[in-house]
Amino acid sequence: MSRFLDKLFARFNIYREPGYYGKYDYKWTIVIDLDKCDGCEACVIACHAENNLPIVGEEECSKNRAFNWIRIERYVEGEYPDVRVKFIPILCQQCGKARCEVGCPTYATYHNQDGLNVQVYNRCIGTFTCATYCPYDVRHFNWFSYKWEAPLEQQLNPDVTVREKGVMEKCTFCIQRIRAGKDHAKDEGREVTDGDIQPACVQTCPTGAMTFGDLNDPESRVSQLAKSERRYRLFEDLNTDPSVIYLKRVMKQTKQ
Ligand code: SF4
Repeated sequence: MSRFLDKLFARFNIYREPGYYGKYDYKWTIVIDLDKCDGCEACVIACHAENNLPIVGEEECSKNRAFNWIRIERYVEGEYPDVRVKFIPILCQQCGKARCEVGCPTYATYHNQDGLNVQVYNRCIGTFTCATYCPYDVRHFNWFSYKWEAPLEQQLNPDVTVREKGVMEKCTFCIQRIRAGKDHAKDEGREVTDGDIQPACVQTCPTGAMTFGDLNDPESRVSQLAKSERRYRLFEDLNTDPSVIYLKRVMKQTKQ
């Protein structure tokens, strides 16, 4: 099915042709081990602080306008007292065949040379097409130009723009950190090595559930983890080719 769709999309030039690995300079990936995630949401807070995300408040959340580039979904199984809770962090999956890119009428979202799905804020005219096409619900619209009252404006990250009303935004694996890491390596006359770059969520996770790296490098930690038999990707049947890889949680059997 997926091969048929690949051929179909390639025929009509809708999506990038399959088999592009190796063409990009890097293939940035996050591997998330769900066996280690305890749902603490430190990654969510780190993402807010790093990327100048607003706190929109209860009323906006009640209107389905919660604003997190990464969110923790919670699933509860069983009946008390045999209750099991599972957590899964959901962020932009940096799809290889991203539907949002097909939909955007102004090319505000596109693929960069590292295989990332990135966003040009000043091209965005807020049509919502990308958010409608995204099956992962990871894009967020700025309904207001949010303000940080003094002295909170001093917490803003100067490496990241503060987006204005009418602009769609989402996670880009902390592209400002990726750029800084690549520039640093270039200044030292070497390639980026595994562990040089860490997005804020990865750096902050207290259990080490998240690992970031280059899937093009066969020696990287993500390449090793990606070989795990617990590996899966979200909605693989949709043929979006996500870059985020999850490792299944292993649940102990309870006694009957
Ligand atoms: Fe899970 Fe780590 Fe995020 Fe906490 S910080 S919710 S353990 S991924």
